[in-house]
Amino acid sequence: MRVLLVEDDAMIGALVQDSLRDASYAVDWVQDGLDALGSLRAQTYDLVLLDLGLPGRDGLEVLKTLRARKNPVHILVLTARDAIENRVQALDAGADDYLLKPFAMTELLARMRAVLRRHGGHSTSCLENGHIELDLVAHAARVDAAEWIPLSAREFALLQALMLRPGAILSRSDLEDRIYGWGEEVESNAVEYLIHALRRKLGQAQIRNVRGVGWMVSKPQ
Ligand code: CA
Repeated sequence: MRVLLVEDDAMIGALVQDSLRDASYAVDWVQDGLDALGSLRAQTYDLVLLDLGLPGRDGLEVLKTLRARKNPVHILVLTARDAIENRVQALDAGADDYLLKPFAMTELLARMRAVLRRHGGHSTSCLENGHIELDLVAHAARVDAAEWIPLSAREFALLQALMLRPGAILSRSDLEDRIYGWGEEVESNAVEYLIHALRRKLGQAQIRNVRGVGWMVSKPQ
């Protein structure tokens, strides 16, 4: 999962970025509305965390510009503006949800999961493809209802990327994009290493390699 964090407050931004990385998200952080629009042109994100009071371009303007561009990215507004009309405006302009500052990180993480779940058509915090179940809260997986196996942060991020699109082949760079944010060094063979580790935990057959193209998990029957 790759998240764009748009927040001009350095303290809040650093705190949220660290917490999201701990929770296995790949995070890019910008502090200006124009930078946010530039980043969203250059990179595909699963979710945007958008402050409303921003230099460069106001958060509400960023939201309207994105929707005018037909960018369907999920947007969770983070705002200290407690006036009802600001929240209503943000929702009407295409935000998926909002969270008032100050907020607890646990609530932010839960709301992010809820937004992603709604759009994935899932009603629980679990992704499944008929064999593998991935618990998005506990960061654990199991195969055919056997015992739950804990995953490392990056194993989780990689398996989540595959489980969000069962039946689709994801290339090495697709997967790296979902695992690493800016400024995080991509170790060579990291994807192969993580696939190897996941296959050891879940069984060789659960993650298919399509030679020269990428990897996939099977579609539910
Ligand atoms: Ca602000």
